[in-house]
Amino acid sequence: MFCAGVEKGMVDRIQALSGFKVGSLPFTYLGVPMSPKQIHPNDCEKLVDKMCAKIKVWSSRNLSYAGRLQLVNSVLLSICSYWCQIFLLPKSIIHKIIGVCRSFLWHGTSSGKRMCPVSWEEICLPKHEGGLGVRNILHWNTAAVGKHVWAIARKKDNMWVRWVHSIYIKDQDWNTYKPTQICSWVGKSFCNIKDILLAAQVDLQLHKYSIKKVYDMLRPTGPTIHWDKVIWNTAAIPKHQFTTWLAYKQRLLTKDRLAKMGIMEDQTCCLCRNGYESHVHLFFECDYSKACMALIANWVGLQVSQQQLQHLIQRVTRNCKGSKLRRQAYSAIISALVYYIWRARNEKLWNNHGWTVEQVTQEIKYNVKIRLHYVNRGNKVRDNQWLANL
Ligand SMILES: [Zn+2]
Repeated sequence: MFCAGVEKGMVDRIQALSGFKVGSLPFTYLGVPMSPKQIHPNDCEKLVDKMCAKIKVWSSRNLSYAGRLQLVNSVLLSICSYWCQIFLLPKSIIHKIIGVCRSFLWHGTSSGKRMCPVSWEEICLPKHEGGLGVRNILHWNTAAVGKHVWAIARKKDNMWVRWVHSIYIKDQDWNTYKPTQICSWVGKSFCNIKDILLAAQVDLQLHKYSIKKVYDMLRPTGPTIHWDKVIWNTAAIPKHQFTTWLAYKQRLLTKDRLAKMGIMEDQTCCLCRNGYESHVHLFFECDYSKACMALIANWVGLQVSQQQLQHLIQRVTRNCKGSKLRRQAYSAIISALVYYIWRARNEKLWNNHGWTVEQVTQEIKYNVKIRLHYVNRGNKVRDNQWLANL
């Protein structure tokens, strides 16, 4: 039996009648701290510790960005989703959680203040708005706790909602209710969330509450884009998709960007030795990249006049006719081209090991073919023939 704000005489009488033992607050129930006072950041530190402990046992060095992104979404952010549905996490803890996820995604470690190519706010946008679809924990926490606010508004039939109505709200209107002095910190935070939801025009009288839908109403939004369908196509390999996403946003650490940061002076392209290395040069004004592109375009029968990655992707998005498998093939090829050209550049720059155009195109052909066999459902004869002739 746990009591808060009850006189000692009353506690003694209840204990004598019930025979229960009196416990002391705060305590932990199902792993979550229970306290009559506001949750202190120290009580939530174990959430961050759990995330860091997970990262320590993963051999992050061998994981690609795409692999780490998967772990951020499916493991790291899932660790705190249970707590997020019970109460609002302190802001300092939310910042720590974001810091751990950000550091792991970009550097494979749980801490560190090194540079990140893309802001966390941008990463938290959905893919159709140019992000990676990572959950924005701040707004997701509000949307998840909002379910309790909705339960009060709908007068759900459970003991807690009935208790809130009989002790606090009584006959008042919940939408306009203001917390009184006697209201606990939980009650006050629920009132704050109610105001946030109403300001975002969330209808608290809806028959069903969807955390996902409310989250979409609360989170920041970006402009809708169309290139996501090419980059995140299922026929493309995840690590190719991630590199292409970075290249499209011009956030790879090319020599022109390194020079601006004062890290590198030489800006000569190490693949063709004939031009300054930038995103526009590498994808695909560089003679080396152009040669790779020409061989691959000839292989799949694609006519290419575009020299810029953005234009090439736009063309596949808008104008590319043909079957679904062909469009998937073109998406997979663009991603593979970007990935292998970037890898060839890194091999040359950091290991002084050169890859020939033929080696790069062989790798692309091999990987794309395997992937297309995997995604092809095999129900169109023309598709099967086209794939078999590749
Ligand atoms: Zn070049």
